[in-house]
Amino acid sequence: MLSDEVQYLPGVGPRRAALLARLGVRTVRDLVEYFPARHEKQEARHIENLEEGMTATVAGKIVAVSRRFTRRGPAISATLMDNTGRASLTWFHAGWMADRIERGAQVRATGKVSVFQNLAQMVNPKIEVIGEDVTPVDESAPARFVPVYPAIAELPSRVIAKLIGDNLGRLLDQVEEWYPPAYLRERKLCGRRWAVQSMHRPAKDNDVASARRRLAYDELLCMQIAVSLARRRLRAGVEAHALPCNAEIDRRIRRRFGFALTAAQDRAIRAITTDMARPRPMNRLLQGDVGCGKTVVALYAALVAVANGRQAAIMAPTELLACQHHRSITQYLANSRVRVVLLVGRMSASERREALERIEAGEADLVVGTHALIQESVRFARLGLVVVDEQHRFGVRQRATIRGKGPSPHYLIMTATPIPRTLAMTVFGDLDVTTIDELPPGRSPIVTRVVPPAQHASAWAAVQTRLALGEQAYVVYPLVDESDKVEMKAAKTEFERIRNQVFSKWKVGLVHGRMNTDDREAAMRDFAAGKLQVLVSTTVIEVGIDVPAATCMVIEHAERFGLSQLHQLRGRVGRGRGRGYCFLLAASDGAAENERLAVLARTTDGFRIAEEDLRLRGPGELLGTRQHGLPELRVADLVADGDLLRMAQRDAESIVHEDSRLAAPEHAALRRVLAEKYEPAIGFLSAG
Ligand code: ADP
Ligand code: MG
Repeated sequence: MLSDEVQYLPGVGPRRAALLARLGVRTVRDLVEYFPARHEKQEARHIENLEEGMTATVAGKIVAVSRRFTRRGPAISATLMDNTGRASLTWFHAGWMADRIERGAQVRATGKVSVFQNLAQMVNPKIEVIGEDVTPVDESAPARFVPVYPAIAELPSRVIAKLIGDNLGRLLDQVEEWYPPAYLRERKLCGRRWAVQSMHRPAKDNDVASARRRLAYDELLCMQIAVSLARRRLRAGVEAHALPCNAEIDRRIRRRFGFALTAAQDRAIRAITTDMARPRPMNRLLQGDVGCGKTVVALYAALVAVANGRQAAIMAPTELLACQHHRSITQYLANSRVRVVLLVGRMSASERREALERIEAGEADLVVGTHALIQESVRFARLGLVVVDEQHRFGVRQRATIRGKGPSPHYLIMTATPIPRTLAMTVFGDLDVTTIDELPPGRSPIVTRVVPPAQHASAWAAVQTRLALGEQAYVVYPLVDESDKVEMKAAKTEFERIRNQVFSKWKVGLVHGRMNTDDREAAMRDFAAGKLQVLVSTTVIEVGIDVPAATCMVIEHAERFGLSQLHQLRGRVGRGRGRGYCFLLAASDGAAENERLAVLARTTDGFRIAEEDLRLRGPGELLGTRQHGLPELRVADLVADGDLLRMAQRDAESIVHEDSRLAAPEHAALRRVLAEKYEPAIGFLSAG
């Protein structure tokens, strides 16, 4: 059985089972699905047809042998001749070869072809000595594909290949087909059994690509079904108040903004108002670059709720951001009847009590505060909408759960980390995603420069010029681990250097992750108020903080950051009228090392940058955590297989729509695999 432990497979046993476990292989199915990283193609060739870089088998007669000693030990060189030419064969550390290689021997040699002194050469080829005269190789014979498995020293690829090769034939019988023939035909997918076989033992060049496509589809479909089931369960039977918008409400809200909304903002608003008009809770993610106008859209949604007689809560991750939202919202709503209440930790006990009373009595329409406070201590009288701002740590997605009986509020989640569409579809399978992909008119893009070490001084000088004009600057010094003493010391030393040498004429503040929240917020408040001209930060400066006079950012060791992270960081500057400058100080002069950073100098499109990040560093890095909750994908690639992912998502939706318990006979195979692989995510499959 494929679900059996691999230990009982012929040729495995307890010792190898332990080694296989290190490769993530525990069951027989794991082994059958342990696919090669690549294949080495071996072609039979006449010597004159050898090409550099290929792996080939040649056959002929040894016509010369020489032995010598090199730094790498004893070496043997031989000249091999067939009817078409001569090739040189060389073995290093190969004392034991000595008596097998002699003049006149007829051999077949297989190895990678290089060129040495104008002669085709194989280094350390595998060799087979043949007694009688060799027949010339048959160049028309099909190439052999030798699988190369991801391996460890104790369990090399060769051993894995043999283990799989010896068992594959028998095990393939147990590999089930998941879909009916018509389903496969429509999607141009090959059979699953053939695909598994061809991943290990392809018969011809294109087999691996077809096999990979099929297996990638299967992985993505399973993942999307799991996501889709989780989403259904989350939403099943949950009701919300329908909060419709109309032309009159729309007109009154728009009058509050002193500008016309961008087309992208309008699109987002249409999606949101459509959601809110339904008696089911909205679960929508609103993403867009810093400054694209998300807050305005959120305020629009909040005012729709208020117009329907409901309360809205806007939650920010920090007090500073909550205060900032409160300030700008109060400005937009000046002279309106909407009652706005702020709820942050630094309020006095009596202020807080009063705020809470007004919220509970329904005398507050719009509540702005920090996540923690709103979730902990508030009972809303008529909550209709919750906006969660800058929820940028997706990995641990602590969705706001606000106490209350009866219908659930609508949720709008905002983030400035653009997530490529393909990834959003999986990570946020339970959210609908809206993207604002346009900045309000009249913004000048931030000037970004990648600065090699020799030019660091001139970057600092450029910042000093801006400071002399009354502008402000951020300096970001990355710490991998703020609890690491050595790292912390380096950061402190750098802070002293910046304060005393680079910016001795100005007031410089420091914030780092180990300061307590009050001190950190105090330093940032001083910076926002202009009491400090330079703010050095070892930690990511709170996303979303708005200091109009801050025009410059210097990021030290920029190469340590992900591109999306750098893009977010630079979004802190140039928020006022002045143009923003971002200097990425690179530790290296190498053009190749700095090429990745150069993407930031070329584009300000957060999505292009996120896609580049995803391509270079994988989804875990982009999401800022390895525990992003995505199941491991062995074959599929979220970046390269975008089309396949979209197809799988459509198919998963319709499968779940038609048969949410996968009870139909044609879903039996899928159901078994899902139960085995995704059980924790979809516990209720087995209950049904
Ligand atoms: P985000 O929350 O996406 O970072 P905000 O909503 O805070 O962006 O908007 C950034 C700035 O742009 C604010 O000062 C806001 O008033 C302004 N703004 C937003 N939308 C528009 C628009 N359509 N036209 C002009 N300015 C806008
Ligand atoms: Mg914002």
